[in-house]
Amino acid sequence: MGKTRKGRITRKGKSLHVPAPRTSDRFMNNDGTLIDKGSGILECRICGLNFLPELAEDRERHDREHLKILAGGLPYEIREFIKRTGWRILENEDLRETPKELETAKRAVAFAYWARAISNSIPENELQPYMAAHFAWLDAVAADDEEAIERTSEEIKRWNKYGG
Ligand SMILES: [Zn+2]
Repeated sequence: MGKTRKGRITRKGKSLHVPAPRTSDRFMNNDGTLIDKGSGILECRICGLNFLPELAEDRERHDREHLKILAGGLPYEIREFIKRTGWRILENEDLRETPKELETAKRAVAFAYWARAISNSIPENELQPYMAAHFAWLDAVAADDEEAIERTSEEIKRWNKYGG
C-alpha cells in the first residue's frame, strides 16, 4: 500500500503502527468529527462507528476502521449510497442523460464493490481482473442481456469471499 507521512500502511493493519494522537487527546480536542450519543457513546462521522472510547477494544476497532479507509475502503453507508445511486441509473434508461453518465454509474458501482473487497483484504493484484469482471457484469445488466448477466454473475462469484 505504499507509505504515508505517518507510517507504513498495510491492508490488514497488523504491522502498521500509525502514531495517531493519543485517544484521550483526540476526544478532548473533538474537531467536529465525533458526535456524542450519550451514555459515553461516540459516533464517528468519518467511519460511522458507534463506540465507547473508554474501552480499549472499541478504540482499537475504531483505529482499524480508519486503517481500512486509508487503504482505500469506504464506510458501509457510503458504499451503499454510491451503489444505490449507481444502480438507479443502471436500471432506468430515463436517468441516463449521456453515455458518459452511464459509464460513470458503472464505475461508481464497481468502485463501491471494490471498496468492500478492500475492507476484506483482497490482494492488490486482483484489481484488474476484479474490475474487468464487474464491468462485464454491469455492461450486461445495463444492456439487459439475460444470458450475459447469468454468465458474468457466475464469473464474479470467485470474489464472494471478499464480501462480493
Ligand atoms: Zn471513525
